[in-house]
Amino acid sequence: MPIYEYACQQCGHEFEALVRASTVPECPDCHSTELDKMLSVFATAASNVEATPMPASPCGSCGHPGGPGACALN
Ligand SMILES: [Zn+2]
Repeated sequence: MPIYEYACQQCGHEFEALVRASTVPECPDCHSTELDKMLSVFATAASNVEATPMPASPCGSCGHPGGPGACALN
């Protein structure tokens, strides 16, 4: 479930909100729905995960010269 950070255009209050598909976020102070969506902390973390290389392949595809199953992972 994504967490978004908003800044209220009415009162300037900044807050984070869990946003479901059917939910319109509103300011907890003035209940305005005139909000600026800011960069999501969740989205930033997710993009970092995607940039991380895949973990080591399971044995059998690791390229060990002894053949599939010959490496220390087995
Ligand atoms: Zn507000």
